[in-house]
Amino acid sequence: MATRRSSLGQLKQLNEWRVIDALRRLGDLSRAELVAATGLSRSTISNVVATLQERAIIDERPATSTAPPGPGRPGATVGLRSQAGIAVGIAVDRENLRVAAVDLAGRVLTQRAEPVSPDTRGTAVIARAAEVVRAIVDAIGVRRDRVVGIGVGLPGPVDIAHGGVAPTSTLRRWAGLDVRAQLSAALDVAHVFPDNDANLGALGELQHGAGRGVENLIYLRVGPGVGGGLILGGQLYRGDDGYAGQIGHITAVADGKPCPCGRRGCLSTLASSWAVAGELEHIHGPELSAARIVSLADGGDREARTALHEAGTHTGRVLAALVNTLNPARIILGGELGARSEDLLAGAREALATNIQPVASKTLSIVHAELGDRSEVLGAAARVLHDEAHVSTFMAGV
Ligand SMILES: [Zn+2]
Repeated sequence: MATRRSSLGQLKQLNEWRVIDALRRLGDLSRAELVAATGLSRSTISNVVATLQERAIIDERPATSTAPPGPGRPGATVGLRSQAGIAVGIAVDRENLRVAAVDLAGRVLTQRAEPVSPDTRGTAVIARAAEVVRAIVDAIGVRRDRVVGIGVGLPGPVDIAHGGVAPTSTLRRWAGLDVRAQLSAALDVAHVFPDNDANLGALGELQHGAGRGVENLIYLRVGPGVGGGLILGGQLYRGDDGYAGQIGHITAVADGKPCPCGRRGCLSTLASSWAVAGELEHIHGPELSAARIVSLADGGDREARTALHEAGTHTGRVLAALVNTLNPARIILGGELGARSEDLLAGAREALATNIQPVASKTLSIVHAELGDRSEVLGAAARVLHDEAHVSTFMAGV
């Protein structure tokens, strides 16, 4: 009997998930539409809808027509409540902290950004991120136990076993810091998913931006660092050790300038904002920020425009090798320079055109990130919501 009871329980859980999943993919639906979308019977749908309403996961919305509203009336629809469950995204880079909250249906509920001093220690940045998350969760009015998970984008390859950037990393602020444990303890949330920021940028664009509906794409974040994320066959490709996409450390010129990674001539030493700032130092002084470089170029500064175009040329040459290997449909340039600079995009587009096989160029387009500087933070939330096994298990427990 026990076995029979538990398999009935499992079936009930599965049916509930089918309804939640249909609402999250398709938006609000009438009962008849739910029958069509899930293949469940009308009476099962009625039972499931009643249970999910009791658990405050969905609510019923009256038809917008003139017909009198009422539960179960024709035209009335059911939809996921924003407070049913939320995913939180956090993205940190050298200069900014960003936090966003997205509901189960992928609706962006709120987002915040604030500057971070490059000298702040990693632990202090994460403590501040936890404060912002607490404030956001309270402002939305969602219970802490309805936070499905927190995705965290960090500016380097993440070692899942260490809960953050590996201790051996050259990123001193983050090396060895267990971001997962620190956030989990600070917020009392069990599910924290740290990942490389460019991986999350790729997911963000796939879900909400310039990558919608694209199966194979390369996302390249060009800002204070240069990092890539690969979507192959509709999925994030991590490689054997989770190191895939480190395009910024592909050698772009032999015997070039030293890179923080310890080698020379990496794409980062030619295309990152600090590399471009270095080219402009003799005219505009030291430590130009990415935003300042772009605004100089927008104002017509010839040297800034040339330096960005050159950065784009190097980027395009490195990308050409990847295009010949992977045959993607789209390349998306994100990050402070990549998402904003027309000159960098033009340089990359020209270099690509002259360096790829004609057959690979037929469907290829190279574009700015649609989400601008929000690709990573929305991707961090998408990382949580993309994990169907996790979301369905979590929702079965609320
Ligand atoms: Zn390097």
